[in-house]
Amino acid sequence: MSQQERDQSPVLRHTETTVPFTAGDGFECNLVHVQGEKPPTRGPVILVHGAGVRANLFRAPVKTTIVDELIDHGYDVWLENWRASIDLPPNEWTLDKAAVYDHPAAVKKIIEKTGADEVKAIIHCQGSTSFMMSSVAGLLPQVKTIVANAVTLHPVVPKFSKTKLNIAVPLMSLVTDYLNPQWGLHAPTLTAKAVSLLVNATHHECKNAVCKQVSFTYGTGFPALWLHENINNDTHEWLKQEFASVPLTFFKQMARCVRKGNLISVDGFKELPADFCAQPPQTDARFVLTAGAKNLCFLPDSQVKTFDWLNQQHKDFHGLHIFPTYGHLDVFMGKNAARDTFPVILAALDDN
Ligand SMILES: [Zn+2]
Repeated sequence: MSQQERDQSPVLRHTETTVPFTAGDGFECNLVHVQGEKPPTRGPVILVHGAGVRANLFRAPVKTTIVDELIDHGYDVWLENWRASIDLPPNEWTLDKAAVYDHPAAVKKIIEKTGADEVKAIIHCQGSTSFMMSSVAGLLPQVKTIVANAVTLHPVVPKFSKTKLNIAVPLMSLVTDYLNPQWGLHAPTLTAKAVSLLVNATHHECKNAVCKQVSFTYGTGFPALWLHENINNDTHEWLKQEFASVPLTFFKQMARCVRKGNLISVDGFKELPADFCAQPPQTDARFVLTAGAKNLCFLPDSQVKTFDWLNQQHKDFHGLHIFPTYGHLDVFMGKNAARDTFPVILAALDDN
């Protein structure tokens, strides 16, 4: 890299600090606080990753990440590693546990560290469903603006994914407590070897074993979570290290939610309603929902349904944007996301 490129690279101008926080049940999580050269001129934004990945997922090897863009806009950026993060010890999490224990503690820690009285949020996939659960249950009163990608309160999945959730997940749970896309690179058990053989026999879309395992684990498509043409070669290689263990406890909860048509709680916490759409949201937050029209993990109809529900509760207040040429995660890690999706996300944050 030349000196000029180094000077222009936002990543090298950023510093990061890991700030630990303890979830409500004692589980140790952390926040990655990323700062630019200048102090922030706007308030804090928390970014919440999905299942079986980590906070780093928002920093793919592209010219400009969403983190760079937020810092350039003056925001104070906090990436939450909640209990689904592969940087933390594997554990049999549910959305309920994250909603009650993790996200309220993360937001409280940001408030404590910054002195701000409000936090904005960008949430994705299962970071989104669990954060939405916290929010609509009234557990995040300091979060007034939420941009949520892919799925929120109404998970709608392709037909074959429904079959996998209803039939394959109970069968898999007889032999393993976790799935792990790393099995594409290294299969330590008989179950891992069997899954790897199955994936290799059915997925021929590329030569990246983790990319193929991710499609098998999370969706119905070749690939399921991005369009190959939307991500650069470095990102396709980089994602090999960004996906690992995900517990079947999550898939079991998601199977029940998909059958019900909206999120339901499964652990019986008194802080959460049994059905998240059976009463109005206990928050005055504004939600802007985004989705890729070509998402084969959660269909874009997921976001349309939640938007309709939110719009019934508070007319002409919330937002919905469908990106026509995007899938699931390329909304954040796409090579042209800085041009196509980030302006929508930034505008949604700035509007409030
Ligand atoms: Zn691939």
